[in-house]
Order: sequence, then structure tokens, then C-alpha cells
Amino acid sequence: MLRAVALAYHGVDDVGGTVPVTDDPHRLLTSADHLRAHVRLLRRLGYRFVTAEDVISGQRPAERVAVLSFDDGFANWVSHALPVLEQEHAVASFYVCPGWWEDQHPLVAGPAGRVMAAADVRRLLDAGMGLGSHAWDHPDLRGLDDAALARQLADSRRAVAEVTGGPCRTVAYPYGLSDARVRAAAKDAGYELAWGWQPGPWDAYDAPRLPAPPRHGARRLGLKLLGIRKFWAA
Ligand SMILES: [Zn+2]
Repeated sequence: MLRAVALAYHGVDDVGGTVPVTDDPHRLLTSADHLRAHVRLLRRLGYRFVTAEDVISGQRPAERVAVLSFDDGFANWVSHALPVLEQEHAVASFYVCPGWWEDQHPLVAGPAGRVMAAADVRRLLDAGMGLGSHAWDHPDLRGLDDAALARQLADSRRAVAEVTGGPCRTVAYPYGLSDARVRAAAKDAGYELAWGWQPGPWDAYDAPRLPAPPRHGARRLGLKLLGIRKFWAA
């Protein structure tokens, strides 16, 4: 397994432009320009972009690889994130809640908060992107009883496998939150890699991610990367 630097994003849209900032009070949207600046910075720093599946099967742990990960199933992934990734020749991994297909994101108002349809995922897959589970409908998994926890992990895994036509091997915990019981359940459900939300030492069932700066470009990301440097050698 590779030790990747993973960045966490949500939606990508023209926030501050066509999308009023008041539609995104929780700062879940990143502009396409900022995403592009982040991709170019990582490449300048020598990172190669891989999907989460590549992390699992990777054979050269010392290699500098980065995973761009996106949570929650935003429809704007296809309209705003995908063009940037294709222009920059970068791959990414996208984490969806099948229980939210074609719904409205609870924390983003207006068209920018629209959640994609299952069929739209095809566009991401055809472009070589990875797809994983973000649980069925985004609960804090720690608060569920054992049966509900197993259902959230298994139902979403099955739904993702149905749209990809292959196994769903990775999950991103909703809110990045897990405990020992949740991590064991993720393993039991058949996942091989599970993302958390905070930087930290490498753990395949609480894999560290760095929240990408939603409103800033390369300089702010560079500072955040310096802040997690202590974990790179771990
Ligand atoms: Zn989420």
C-alpha cells in the first residue's frame, strides 16, 4: 500500500462568482481556479496523482503520490471539477452517498448544492476517476447500533459497485469520524481503505486526509502541507 498525501474536497463551483457565498455558509465549495492551483502546486512539488484504488495496490511506498478526494456527490463534480482534472491530466477519487442521489445537499443552498444522479457517475468513471462509498446517507457512523452501521456500509458499497460494475474497495467516513467499532465494521464490510478527515499517522482504516483550503489557492495549500510534514516520515 502507498502512503499518499490525500486532500479532501466537497463541491467545486464558482463560489463568489455565479454562486453567492451565502449559499455556502459552511465553505464546502472550492472554485475551479483554486482546485487548479492546488493540482499545479502538488505537481510542482513532485507528486503523482493516483486514485484510492491505486493506493491499495501500490507497490512503491516511498513514492510521492497524492489523492484528490471529493465527498458528498455534488452534481458540480461533472460540470466544474472534471474539466480541471482532465485539463491537468490528474485523477481523483469521488465519495458518494447513494441515499442522496438527485437530492439537495443539506448544507449548500441553490443549484450548487444539487447532488448528482447515479447515471452521472458514468462521466467520472469514463474519465478514469475512482468512486467509493461515503455511507448510505451520511450519518455519524459512531452513533448507530451495530445493525444500522453494517447496513450503511454494506448498502452503499453495493450501490457503488452497481454503478461502477466492479468492487467498491474504499470508503470515506461521513464527517471523517470513526471509532474502533466503526473501523472494525468497515473492515468486516469488505473495504480495504477508509479515509478519516484529519492529518495524522498512516492507518488504512483511519487514513489521514488534509482538508483542502476551500477559498485559497497554492500558497495556503503549501502552508498546510508544511504543517503535516511531520507525518510524512511516520
Ligand atoms: Zn461528507
